[in-house]
Amino acid sequence: MGKLTIQKGMLQVPDVVTVPFITGDGVGGEIMPACQAVVNEAVQKAYQGKRSVDWHEVYAGEKAFNQTGDWLPEETLQAFHEYLVGIKGPLTTPVGGGIRSLNVALRQKLDLYVCLRPVRWFRGVASPLKDPSKVNMTIFRENTEDIYAGIEWKAGTGEAERLLHFLQHEMGVTSIRFPQTSSFGIKPVSMEGSARLVRAAIQYALDTRQPHVTLVHKGNIMKFTEGGFKEWGYQVAEKEFAGRVFTMQSYARIAQEEGKEQAAKALAEAITAGKVIIKDVIADAFLQNTLLRPEDYSVVATLNLNGDYISDQLAAMVGGIGISPGANINYLTGHAIFEATHGTAPDIAGTNQANPSSLLLSAVMMLEYLGWQEAARLITSAMECCFASGRATADLARLMENGQHLSTTAFADELPEIIKTP
Ligand code: NAD
Repeated sequence: MGKLTIQKGMLQVPDVVTVPFITGDGVGGEIMPACQAVVNEAVQKAYQGKRSVDWHEVYAGEKAFNQTGDWLPEETLQAFHEYLVGIKGPLTTPVGGGIRSLNVALRQKLDLYVCLRPVRWFRGVASPLKDPSKVNMTIFRENTEDIYAGIEWKAGTGEAERLLHFLQHEMGVTSIRFPQTSSFGIKPVSMEGSARLVRAAIQYALDTRQPHVTLVHKGNIMKFTEGGFKEWGYQVAEKEFAGRVFTMQSYARIAQEEGKEQAAKALAEAITAGKVIIKDVIADAFLQNTLLRPEDYSVVATLNLNGDYISDQLAAMVGGIGISPGANINYLTGHAIFEATHGTAPDIAGTNQANPSSLLLSAVMMLEYLGWQEAARLITSAMECCFASGRATADLARLMENGQHLSTTAFADELPEIIKTP
């Protein structure tokens, strides 16, 4: 058994890493074993037995509920806490009282403040874009704040009335159009929450040599929450990454003080010097631009709700949720849970049709997080090879020219064969 540890902010990775996993409900039972077999083969091929993953099953969702009467047993949380990394298949959201969402509960308990979503296109996969090869972005979505904090009150309740009274009589608010029938929601966005998210995004851009980090916000309308996110983001960039980044705020300052030509010169010099350019854009313009000029974006840092919309749009641009991986990470404690981004797909569960790619690419992210880049590359190359020849599960194959439908198991059996090929 090998436990990851974190020392002075650096992950210490033993050769045998214990990874707790939740199989997940619905198609989870099909895609998790497929994913594990591919990972095992890639790690074996890359390190010839020197490194391996020790899979350790823990329970959540329906499987846990049926066995223990608990949707999210304490031992599962404990395992993720103890071993730092973990991977999970999709979980059924319990209907009725108790936990609102198991995924949200896991994120909150471990304070996984970054939702990380890399978005890239695989040759052969159908896309609504003319040239999807230009899409290569990594989204850092803030995971703990914003409207997702769940602070809201329903119209007509005593709480809504009390809040309305407070707003109108103590805060001087006069702009609520239909006060008596309004529900209310509160959107907390903090300096710490914004700073730690943007810090992680900039560090990632530096580590992986990305050209820019774009802060996506609606600060033109929500000046103190979304506008605050932008300001705090620029502050982190200028204070903590001085000399390694160039911000468009400093561009604006130079333009004002010394003229546009000097600002353009400073920007060109920064690009030549390999500095990461920190810029910002309003969320609605960003969504348009990602379709028109996707090459303008690489690392994207954004708030929780914007990140939700952005993740799905970008996923659709490269083939949809069946192929989009994700992770929830706390870079300070080292805790990270890698996950399939789709749900339990009850309509196809048990039919051997599910696409394991989302979970598999999440496992690739996990290997990269461990620093096992060689094994990660073997998996992505094998997937590139399959998709380029039109071989994929039905969700992707039916949209490909000359696509050839493979079952979950057939697709998952092909990958280790490709990986084994010298
Ligand atoms: P879903 O993602 O399960 O399914 C939406 C559509 O996408 C379906 O047509 C499904 O067949 C297809 N699909 C999903 N994954 C696929 C895959 N790997 N391969 C091929 N096709 C795939 O969304 P839903 O139906 O709205 O939700 C079902 C359940 O999953 C609900 O209980 C929901 O709460 C839960 N859910 C869980 C997660 C999670 O655990 N991360 C995320 C979303 C939904």
